[in-house]
Amino acid sequence: METQILPITDESLILASKILNGGGLIGMPTETVYGLAAIGTMGEAVKKIYEVKGRPADNPLICHVHKDYDLNKLVKIEQEYVYRLIEKFIPGPLTMVFYGKGVISEEATCGGDTLAVRIPSHEGCQRFLKFIDQPIVAPSANLSKHTSPVTARHVYNDLNGKIPLILDGGKCSGGIESTVLDVTGKVPRILRAGLITKEMITSVCGACEVAEHKEGDKVRSPGVKYRHYRPNCETALYSEEEYGEVIKLYREYERLGKKPFVMCGGKIKQKFVGLNLLDLGDTPEEIAFNLYDKLLEGEKLADIIIAVAMPDEKGVNMGIMNRLKKSCG
Ligand code: AMP
Ligand code: MG
Repeated sequence: METQILPITDESLILASKILNGGGLIGMPTETVYGLAAIGTMGEAVKKIYEVKGRPADNPLICHVHKDYDLNKLVKIEQEYVYRLIEKFIPGPLTMVFYGKGVISEEATCGGDTLAVRIPSHEGCQRFLKFIDQPIVAPSANLSKHTSPVTARHVYNDLNGKIPLILDGGKCSGGIESTVLDVTGKVPRILRAGLITKEMITSVCGACEVAEHKEGDKVRSPGVKYRHYRPNCETALYSEEEYGEVIKLYREYERLGKKPFVMCGGKIKQKFVGLNLLDLGDTPEEIAFNLYDKLLEGEKLADIIIAVAMPDEKGVNMGIMNRLKKSCG
């Protein structure tokens, strides 16, 4: 199978619709990362997502709809604060987990009673979702465990020959996956950190919990228990205080004739002048935007990516650290 990359036009949308309604998969852009899309009510198509990615069968998928879609068709909205979250953050990189109504195939929900729903803000994605006008389930469009794609080319590099079409919507503006928020209870609970932060949710809802994942717990968001986002090279992760260790490891690799790269953002960069650097930028938003792109660039250039952690886990840094620990830790 030849994988085509096409810009979003009337013609490519007609082709995408044909593929999806025929039970196939396509790559689609969003403002977070690229998704591997199937129509959410077509069980056989949804199964293909797991096959193509090599995704564990107990990790459910997020359902994407356009901004005029009536969520009540899919889920039970039980908490009043949900309307405030919608007002403030949607469309955008916030996925909400509700009790479902059984519309989406059980292959996508893994037989669970909840459904994760998201309304992306990416303009091209909205146009696509409106054109298809059916719920689209999609995980990130990478091979399972590999770094998530933030360009159409990244999707191609992982899935070439496995899907017929990737819609090209440019580089994703967000750069890390959506915040996954359980909105079934009295207090909203973050299951996966992202660009909509605990602080932002608290300001709208008055409170916000963060789910902790301990060994042996029943995991509420199965995806978070897996090793994830890993580039195809060696990795290490150090705190900012351990910058001396970073340089030591870097020199050790050099002595072995190997090519090390330091990956970091912010002021700590100044400690690594003259070394091979994957520069993540300065603000947390820039760092999130660049993270996967730099990991995927790094795996081509480096024998080892030595990453430096964020100084704290406040705001967007919580989501960045979650990805850094899994990709490089
Ligand atoms: P991905 O699409 O690869 O970014 O992964 C989707 C994330 O959403 C994973 O962490 C899933 O475990 C999580 N997720 C999807 N559906 C549900 C659900 N019904 N309840 C809790 N978490 C979910
Ligand atoms: Mg993923």
